[in-house]
Amino acid sequence: MKHIVSCEIIKDLLPNYIENILSNEGNELVKSHIDSCSNCRKECEIISSNLSIDSIGKAKVDYLKKINKKFLIILISLLLVTVISTILLVFYSEPNIDEGILTLIFLVFVIIAIIIKYVIPLIGLVFSIVYLKKTHKKFLIIPIIIFGILLFKSLYIYIRNLIYY
Ligand SMILES: [Zn+2]
Repeated sequence: MKHIVSCEIIKDLLPNYIENILSNEGNELVKSHIDSCSNCRKECEIISSNLSIDSIGKAKVDYLKKINKKFLIILISLLLVTVISTILLVFYSEPNIDEGILTLIFLVFVIIAIIIKYVIPLIGLVFSIVYLKKTHKKFLIIPIIIFGILLFKSLYIYIRNLIYY
């Protein structure tokens, strides 16, 4: 079958045809050509699949950006909680074990203290290192150092107390 327009012209029009920005006349022209020309039909499929890959890639980047933002918010809140609790812990030194309700209160206090002293710095440390590896942002060294110092200081005191008793 003889084509009214050459394949070259159709190939020029294909990207616009796929993005649906051609005039009605142009659309009809490309559509009728593709229906009868297998070469241009293939070309059209290749271009449209490439375009969809592009949009998937863009969606992925947007998604990663969102995750990174969430990551950063979690990191900053962890850092704030740790710093504030550490300051508070300095003013409220650990009480001695007493009988009755005081023991219960002390137990709760100890659990909270353990979470603040070990769990939060550990989570913060892991979060900052993972985040640093993902984004290569140099300022993340600061939370890593703070969380690291807090964790190792707590562990050092814990081990020293174990040796003493
Ligand atoms: Zn053709």
